[in-house]
Amino acid sequence: MSEENNMTKKVDYDPSRIQNVEHGVSNTLDNIGVELLQIRVGGETVHAKRIGGFFRNIKTIIAPIWLLLFLGPYLQWDGHQAILWDIPNRQFHILGLTILPQDIWMLALILLFFAMALAAASAVAGRLWCGYFCFQTVWMDTFTWIEEKIIGNPNKQAALDKAPWTWEKIKLKGLTHSIFLSIGMLTGFSFVAFFTDSLQLWQDIFAGTASSTAVTVILVLGFATYFFAAILREQTCVGVCPYARIQGAMLDKQTMVPTYDIDRGEPRGRMKRVRPGEEAPKLGDCIDCNLCVAVCPTGIDIRSGQQLGCITCGLCIDACDSVMEKLDKPLGLIRYASLEEFEGKTQPPLFKRPRVLVYGGIMAFAGAILVYGLATIAPMKLNVLHERAPLFVMLSDGSIQNKLTIKVVNKTNKVMQVKLSADGIANMRVEGDTDLLLVEPGSVGSTTMLIKAPRANLKGDNTPVQIHAQDVLHPELAQTYDSMFIGPK
Ligand code: SF4
Ligand code: SF4
Repeated sequence: MSEENNMTKKVDYDPSRIQNVEHGVSNTLDNIGVELLQIRVGGETVHAKRIGGFFRNIKTIIAPIWLLLFLGPYLQWDGHQAILWDIPNRQFHILGLTILPQDIWMLALILLFFAMALAAASAVAGRLWCGYFCFQTVWMDTFTWIEEKIIGNPNKQAALDKAPWTWEKIKLKGLTHSIFLSIGMLTGFSFVAFFTDSLQLWQDIFAGTASSTAVTVILVLGFATYFFAAILREQTCVGVCPYARIQGAMLDKQTMVPTYDIDRGEPRGRMKRVRPGEEAPKLGDCIDCNLCVAVCPTGIDIRSGQQLGCITCGLCIDACDSVMEKLDKPLGLIRYASLEEFEGKTQPPLFKRPRVLVYGGIMAFAGAILVYGLATIAPMKLNVLHERAPLFVMLSDGSIQNKLTIKVVNKTNKVMQVKLSADGIANMRVEGDTDLLLVEPGSVGSTTMLIKAPRANLKGDNTPVQIHAQDVLHPELAQTYDSMFIGPK
């Protein structure tokens, strides 16, 4: 049996060990402020309760930072759009740097880096991406926050779902869903704005002159965002997202995921005052308040073991810790823990876990090459092609002539006026099209250079020469190409 199958077997708790000792709703709990919640799962929309805590704070911090990404197309850098995928001209502009098709390997490395980061994070702590960073999660969390502000707490939201369609319900539902749809459309718009002049796109939309492609993409992405985050909600994470299906291959027995400590929690049961002469029931620490289920955005009960729908957001940990605090019991009845921890084994450090090492190694490799590539990517690239037929021409004055095709790539967002020159042989002359070469941003300028040199000054049939290109408008932009001057043997 594979390791994953073993793992699944161990994770699925034996239901016979879970006992629900019902002692009735207790005044004791009311006194300490623990709310006994009715949970709604199975067929009904999940309206998760929001409570504070460590993991909620992390989500609250990460979500706005993530949403700021959508401001990317509106940022300006040196008078140009800071991030622009210029597909018609096959250029990617980022913060003044232009990545042309020949540098596309860097984008491939970026994708590899993030894929490995995702795999490494999953191996360490499960669906971390889903819990904190995935757009679906962030949007869903934002939408449910808006819903709570407009309609009220989860109980009111559930009641409104069941209520007949009155004017009040139409008003509340209409308002919330209009906001959801607007956010969806803004999402679609911001996505398209990465691929075109963002401010021009706004003008075109309002003037009704935007291209049908842009409008179609905005509408498709806008409705998709609305459908997945506002209508399907947690069902997207549970049943639609492919990552949920493949995560099993990335986890192992040392992966830390939110886990209910069944030995400590069971038999669960609600506390009640024990009358004199009555024997106190022997209960675990779980008071079956259901708060952990009520806060779960995917509506699952982590006490039943790990499930496909758990996005490892840790909100149930916050919930249970808040209950334990009130009960004056140790925190961590639900906590990030690995299967090996529950088997009594010591968690090895990350650098001793082969899976993490492999993912981390590939990440480091991709990251190092990427950093090198970004550090050495030149804003100007000079290419020199030697004329092959003939390789050289012997002139009537006895000197030798070589013909070179010069190509200058402008990777900046400014026009270049390039001065070309050459040296390396005594008394050599440069002729041909040696006026300033005008190269538009993100394009390639081409010209021909003729080099003439006295035969006596050549060092055999191949004499090293250097071709220089310098932008006269920005002299710091310069390149040198080592070439060969070819002469007779
Ligand atoms: S695990 Fe914690 S939050 Fe969940 S029902 Fe038990 S005591 Fe309540
Ligand atoms: S079970 Fe806990 S960690 Fe998993 S999704 Fe629900 S609240 Fe988040």
